[in-house]
Order: sequence, then structure tokens, then C-alpha cells
Amino acid sequence: MRLYIPNSRETDIPKQFKTFVSEEYFCNCIKCGKELIESDSEYFIEKVIKNGEIEFEYAICNHCAEKVNMELSTESKQNIEKYMSDRVENLSRNIELLNNPEAEYDNWLEKCMITGNNIDKGSDYQVAAQFKGNRMILSFMPYAISLDAIEEMQELLSAKTKDELDNFKKQNLDLPPEFLEFIKTSPFVFV
Ligand SMILES: [Zn+2]
Repeated sequence: MRLYIPNSRETDIPKQFKTFVSEEYFCNCIKCGKELIESDSEYFIEKVIKNGEIEFEYAICNHCAEKVNMELSTESKQNIEKYMSDRVENLSRNIELLNNPEAEYDNWLEKCMITGNNIDKGSDYQVAAQFKGNRMILSFMPYAISLDAIEEMQELLSAKTKDELDNFKKQNLDLPPEFLEFIKTSPFVFV
């Protein structure tokens, strides 16, 4: 899933996509440590919300996100592409928002990108967005995905891919063990 589209636009980074504790920019890639703001780099932020609370959050540079994508098995990629293309009506909603100059970034996050259902802010879901330095890019992203859809997508990943994603998350996220089970059900959705 490539994310640049011709009429994408930029906005300031809202509080929702700053660090939860200190409300600052995410300054480094979680995988390679690259500085992201001063260097005006392109990167993604993913946040996982459980019962309305931030479960975990991180930024990853484009280069590392592409590497993760390459590690997905062909089977997993094909399954996810098919799943997405069957739901193209919901996917196009975010693109249509770009034609509305009044639309704010949070309009992109009101509905699950996959199911089209409203996102209940007190439930389990995840959000992802794309950035360049200290600017957020509005295009196909940002988006929100509900737990239902995350679970469905998880089933499309091959065993090989699941192992690789699990390893990536274990190596890169310093998290208490009780969270790992939840993370296993959270595939990277921007690849
Ligand atoms: Zn990186």
C-alpha cells in the first residue's frame, strides 16, 4: 500500500500524534534510531489503543517500514491486498476527504478504514499516520482500524510472517510481557 497521492496536503502535527506522556514530537525511528524532525525525514507513527487508553506507540522511518514490508511473505501480501481491494469503498472515503477543504485530520479517524463502522473512542483500535519532519501528511492516511478488522487481517497473515512480525515487535518494543499477547494480534497495517 503506497501512500502518496497527488492532492495530499500537510498540517501541523496534532497532539494525538505526539508522545502520550510528554506531548512532544516522536524524534527517532524505533528500529534504526534515525533522527526524524531536524532531518525532515519521512516516517510513520502507529498507536494502539485498548479500552480507550494508549497501549503502545512508536515512530518508524520509511526505510525501516519498507524493510518490514519486504519481510512479509508473498502469501501474506496477496491475502491482504485481496482483503483491502474487496473493501475499496471504505478505503476511498479518506481520499474523498481531501476534496473537502474544511475537513480536519480527525475526520480521517472517525470510521474504521476497513469496516466503515464508527470508531468507538473507548474501545480497542489503532491509528496510523504519515509524516515529514514536523508536518503530518493528509492523504490516504491518517486512518483508524477497529479491533474486528485487525483480527480479520491477522488471520490473513501466514505463519512465517506472524513469526517475523512478532520478533520485530519483541525486539523493538520494551513492553511488559502481559502486553505481548495483544501485540501479536496487531499486524502492521501500513505495509
Ligand atoms: Zn529506521
